[in-house]
Amino acid sequence: MRKFLFDTTVCVEDGDDFVDRLARAYREKVRPQCLCCDPAVPMYIADIGDQLVIKRMPLTGGRHDPACTSYEPPYELSGLGPLIGGAIKLDPSAGTTALKLDFSLSKRGSTARDETGASPADRVRNESKKLSLRALLHFLWHESGLTEWTGHWSGKRHWWQVYHHLTEATRLMDVRGETLAERLLVPEPFRADEKTAIEQRRAQKLGQLFHKTNGPNQLMMLVGEIKEFADARHGRQVVIKHMPGFRLCLEEPAWQSLQRRFEAELMLWQSTEASHLMAIMTIGGTPAGITTINEIALMTVTEQWLPIENAYEQNLVERLARLRSKSVKGLRFNLSRTQPFANATLLETKPLPYALFIVPPNVDENFETALQDMIGARPDLTPWIWRVSDGEMPRLPGAGNNE
Ligand SMILES: [Zn+2]
Repeated sequence: MRKFLFDTTVCVEDGDDFVDRLARAYREKVRPQCLCCDPAVPMYIADIGDQLVIKRMPLTGGRHDPACTSYEPPYELSGLGPLIGGAIKLDPSAGTTALKLDFSLSKRGSTARDETGASPADRVRNESKKLSLRALLHFLWHESGLTEWTGHWSGKRHWWQVYHHLTEATRLMDVRGETLAERLLVPEPFRADEKTAIEQRRAQKLGQLFHKTNGPNQLMMLVGEIKEFADARHGRQVVIKHMPGFRLCLEEPAWQSLQRRFEAELMLWQSTEASHLMAIMTIGGTPAGITTINEIALMTVTEQWLPIENAYEQNLVERLARLRSKSVKGLRFNLSRTQPFANATLLETKPLPYALFIVPPNVDENFETALQDMIGARPDLTPWIWRVSDGEMPRLPGAGNNE
């Protein structure tokens, strides 16, 4: 149970008057402090779809006590570590992050190029200086708390929650002096009785794509769940869930390139009924009023909306999803597919949290060296390693964590 300081009053989460105090603090813009540590850790109050919740400020998870629910495993264990201070800069006083992007938000001319290959996430260049599309999606997922899971949440995470947490996270991120929320559309959970209002809000937000200017055309970003890549005369029509009747145009060369680069994501999605395929894209508008995709990246997530990048991770996440104890899924961000990272961490194991690593078959010596370095640098976590070529996944650490 977390304890907070509101100005000079100490409150226990779930205490009798907590909801009232929270509402008052939100109105009066009081910043709560989490008292798990000394000094206390500043937090903020977010309005998540009519419910007030206390969230940690960006990139402050490591400052909480490991027993606090706001604690996060060290960023060096995932692809987030190398980006902090470069591609992602924290403004501690404002509680926001400034992001540098490795893709363009404007475009000259109206012909779509094959842009999916323009920023391959697997290359080494710009590893720490700028975020690829995929890395931005990973950062959004991470900051939204969607990488965290406990079995207590089974059946309780739907698009409604995903949408609200993502939207909240975009308000705390800046891109070239503008909040990301201004330039990124996350489709609202669709309701037939609100169809007109939802479509109006969307059209207003996307309006800037169709304003004619003398300079380059502005692009926006969209994060949504793929419903289908429908056949079109040339290329594909991309249909996003919660956007009925809305079509995005993907030209044939970009579609070909997408299938090559995201083959694993597409296969995971097609082979598992309950999975979701998330897309992040930059989109533009044509004078004829058509919305086109400029660049796109994909991420497969499980039924619990936890990201997975191959069948091994899928196996691991399926097991973690059933645990009562809390796990955090690690993400690759800009790291290439040949580099290790902690695929997940288990936070409630005693005496130390566990970092879980998967060693895929056919890795080279560099992978092993990097893995040993990563483990050696964090004596505050116990490593658990699944070497896929050795066979079955070992038992998960922690009492009661194995059926
Ligand atoms: Zn705390």
